[in-house]
Amino acid sequence: MLAINNLQAAIGEKEILKGISLTVNPGEVHAIMGPNGSGKSTLSAVLAGRDTYEVTGGQVTFNDKDLLELPPEDRAREGIFLAFQYPVEIPGVSTTNFLRTAVNEKRKYRGEAPLDAVQFLKLMKQKMDLVKIDQSLLSRSLNEGFSGGEKKRNEIFQMAMLEPSLAILDETDSGLDIDALRLVAGGVNQLRSKDNAFIVITHYQRLLEYIVPDFVHVLYNGRFVKSGGKELALELEERGYDWIKEEADALI
Ligand code: ADP
Ligand code: MG
Ligand code: MG
Repeated sequence: MLAINNLQAAIGEKEILKGISLTVNPGEVHAIMGPNGSGKSTLSAVLAGRDTYEVTGGQVTFNDKDLLELPPEDRAREGIFLAFQYPVEIPGVSTTNFLRTAVNEKRKYRGEAPLDAVQFLKLMKQKMDLVKIDQSLLSRSLNEGFSGGEKKRNEIFQMAMLEPSLAILDETDSGLDIDALRLVAGGVNQLRSKDNAFIVITHYQRLLEYIVPDFVHVLYNGRFVKSGGKELALELEERGYDWIKEEADALI
């Protein structure tokens, strides 16, 4: 589904990603962990197509298309969803209206007929039950005045509605409280299937107690320096990141 090959990216003169390679297949959950400043958010932003970053080398294909050639909105329509680190607020636009437009734009892009009002409401109802979100949240302006937990709930709902084939969850490093954590994890676990994949980015192991990954990769100083199974996350929790840094620095 996703193949990243030797990806390099910079902000201005500063090189941030220094050769990242990663393959993600349908049905897989990959966790990306690593110390602060290692480039985790940069990687997710580059995949989503944020223009702050300049790709300076490497290739990324998504469903056999050259992802880096696609504008951000087409990446979303192809089925990539980036959640969390900076949820946008859109005053005057309710979640319902925002999603109706987004869902139908995606359908149009894929050559599918738009959903009419009845079909759309039916889909909303189904997904609301799935991720347990309240109707009142959906009629308010998108993210405006939402609490942290409400924003998360809303993003999970957006993810459910857009049915991405690849969802990238970039957690804030400030840490979520346990309720927000369970909510995010519960939503992801509901949506996990053999046809979609998740990249879960997190500084801490805690989230991975709830979303159990198939693979764990450690990003440090713009490179993946270690990969393993879910047990690697536990080892990091126990031993911290210093030993990883020492191992990696010794190789450079
Ligand atoms: P992480 O998400 O792993 O904490 P980031 O991707 O946010 O790491 O940051 C990686 C590096 O890039 C850090 O050294 C950070 O200071 C730098 N960086 C991130 N955004 C910018 C920016 N807009 N301008 C300059 N440097 C940046
Ligand atoms: Mg950070
Ligand atoms: Mg980050």
